[in-house]
Amino acid sequence: MRVGVLVEHRQANVRDITFELLTKARELGDTIAIILSQKGEDLAQKLKGFVSQVVTVDDDRFTNFNPEYYRIGLKSLVETEKLDLILLGQTAFGVDLAPALAQDLKVPIATDCIEVKIEGDRLITTRNIYGGKINCDIAIKRTPAVLTLRPATFQPQRTELPLEIKKTESSLREEIDYRRFLEFVEAKVGEVDITKSDVIVAVGRGIREEKNLPMIQELADALGGVVACTRPIVDSGWLPKDRQVGSSGKTVKPKLYLAIGVSGAFQHTMGMRGSGTIIAVNKDPEAPIFNEADYGIVDDLFKVVPILKEKIKELRA
Ligand code: FAD
Repeated sequence: MRVGVLVEHRQANVRDITFELLTKARELGDTIAIILSQKGEDLAQKLKGFVSQVVTVDDDRFTNFNPEYYRIGLKSLVETEKLDLILLGQTAFGVDLAPALAQDLKVPIATDCIEVKIEGDRLITTRNIYGGKINCDIAIKRTPAVLTLRPATFQPQRTELPLEIKKTESSLREEIDYRRFLEFVEAKVGEVDITKSDVIVAVGRGIREEKNLPMIQELADALGGVVACTRPIVDSGWLPKDRQVGSSGKTVKPKLYLAIGVSGAFQHTMGMRGSGTIIAVNKDPEAPIFNEADYGIVDDLFKVVPILKEKIKELRA
C-alpha cells in the first residue's frame, strides 16, 4: 500500500500532527510525505527519522494554506505517485481540505479516525460515534481513499531512516481569486499561556459554581501550575476562552495534568491526552476521564481538593 501523508506546515514549521501521521503511515505501508510549499527542501529536513521518501512541489501559492490550491496540487500527486491512501490531520487544515479532495477524486473518505489498520485486503478505520460513547469500525472497500486522523491519538516515533527528496513540477495552471490568503494573524496569548505550563489543573462542571473556582486556583498555586478548564466553564463565562482545553480549545502536553470534576468527553481529552501524568478526581467511577488517567480518585472534589492542597503545601514546606 502506498500511503501519502500531507505535511501540515505553518510559518515554516511542521505541525505536530504530521509526525503523528507519518508514524502511523509507516505501519500501513510505503510512506510518502508530500510537501506543498516553496520552502519544501527546508521543511523536508525536519522530517528526518520519520519518513524516507519526500515529494515536494515548490510553488509560492502553496506556502500559505489555501485549500483550493492544495486540492489541485494533491489531486495530481495522488495520480502521479499512484497513492492508495491519503492521510491528513483532523485539524482546521484537514477538515477544510479532505472532503473536497475526496469529492474531486471521487474516492471514499473517513474523517476523525482514531485507528487505521489493514486486515487481509481490507482497510479498516475506527471512529467515535454518539459523542464518543461508541467506537465503530468502518471497512473501506476501494482505494485510493482519503482519511483524516484525530490529533494526539498516535504517538510520534522517530527511527533511523535515510531521507530522499524528490522535487516535482507544480500542477497549478490558473490563479484562484475567489479564495485568497490575505495575512497570517497570530492568536493573542492571554495573561496565562496554558500551552507553556508543566503543570495544569483543569476544572470541569463538577465545580458547580463560579464562586468555587478559587479553591482550584489555590491547588494550582500550590503545585506551581495554571488553571485550565472544559468548554462549559468557558461557555458559562467563568474563565476566558484561552483556558479551554480540547478540540475547540487548546492542545496541551504538560508533565502533570490534574482533571477535577471533568467527565472526559472526547472533545476535551483530544486536547490533553498527550500529557505526561494524568490524575483525575471525579465522583463517578464510570466517568470516561478514568480511561485516560494514570491515577484516579473516585470521590467528591470538594472533599479531595482541600486535602490535596494541604498535603502539597506540607510536602513543599
Ligand atoms: P460534564 O460532562 O457535565 O462533567 C462533569 C463531571 O463532574 C462529571 O463526570 C461528574 O461526575 C463530575 N462531578 C460532578 N460533581 C462532582 C463532585 N462534587 N466531585 C467530583 N466530580 C464531580 N469540551 C471541552 O472541554 N473542550 C472542547 O474544546 C470542546 N469542544 C467541543 C466541540 C464541539 C463541536 C462540541 C459539540 C462539544 C465540545 N466540547 C468541548 C464539549 C464536550 O462535549 C463536553 O460537553 C464537555 O467537555 C464536558 O465538560 P465537563 O466535563 O466540564 O462537564
